[in-house]
Amino acid sequence: MNLSETSVLLIYTGGTIGMIHNEETGTLESFNFKHLMKHIPELDKCGVNVESYVFDKIIDSSDMHPDVWVKLVKVIQENYDRYTGFVILHGTDTMAYTASALSFMLNNLSKPVILTGSQLPIGDLRTDGKENLMTSIEIAGAVENGEPVVQEVCIYFENHLMRGNRTTKQNAENFNAFHSCNYPNLADVGIHIKYEQVYFRKNTEKKPLEIYTGYDPNVVVLTLFPGIQKSIVEAVLNVPGLRGVVLKTFGTGNAPRNEWLLNLLKNATDRGIVIVNVTQCLEGAVDMTRYETGMQLLETGVVSGHDITTESALVKLMVLLGNEPDIKKVREKMSVSIAGEIS
Ligand code: ASP
Repeated sequence: MNLSETSVLLIYTGGTIGMIHNEETGTLESFNFKHLMKHIPELDKCGVNVESYVFDKIIDSSDMHPDVWVKLVKVIQENYDRYTGFVILHGTDTMAYTASALSFMLNNLSKPVILTGSQLPIGDLRTDGKENLMTSIEIAGAVENGEPVVQEVCIYFENHLMRGNRTTKQNAENFNAFHSCNYPNLADVGIHIKYEQVYFRKNTEKKPLEIYTGYDPNVVVLTLFPGIQKSIVEAVLNVPGLRGVVLKTFGTGNAPRNEWLLNLLKNATDRGIVIVNVTQCLEGAVDMTRYETGMQLLETGVVSGHDITTESALVKLMVLLGNEPDIKKVREKMSVSIAGEIS
């Protein structure tokens, strides 16, 4: 692996990593890139040429919006040939959504796009930001046999490199903030970076990068729970303009056996709304043929999301509905892997 002559574009969107404490209110607020750079002089010595791109508006990632995803993929496309890889500094709160969205919007990716951030600001003595950032840069600049080692959208956090569209934020306290659901880590980092190449996605056909910039935000996550009311489900499924629903069901994709629920779901799918069945469990997959309580959903036209995460299912729906006019194709694609998001 050769780290010289590699260059990485560091894209700064915001998040705790670059925040400072507001002395008056005691809250954390976004600060500018110069503040961030002041705390990482190591960047000059890391053997990788790092250049930066700073978004006009630095945000807490709770303010993340699909328009920012569009901007991110455009920045990556415009700079694609000039860099070995890309590192995106992002808040942890919605990082899994952004990583998933980018994986669907950047088609035929053959370079690394690594999202990272931190739980403590970079200026704090015990910050986790420095290690996260430096290792992300090393991974984004890693080349083997003239090709980038990683060729997909990932999150690097607290010693783990994970496929972006498999991640979920699991902890708001520990440094180990992310979990990779139903998929092994792509690398574990200690003294060495141990890449698990068998799990990598590669653009073997060497197709050129293609970006999708359309999205349809008329989607919703509907979580089932014991005692859920007809009036509530009815109201959600009849929201004007609604086009997609991520239905969070029990266990392997099961729902209560209520006639009214099945009728409402069937009516919605008949109106062209795409309903995707996703489990409320952190691990495991939907299998609607396993129990009668799942089988009934199949008959309403609900499609299986298998072992996809909620974050990934939601943004995949947005991206597909924004780019694919044929609803039948959207339904088909929701049930298969298009970017490594389903096993
Ligand atoms: N609220 C912050 C954000 O997501 C949290 C973080 O960065 O860890 O921007």
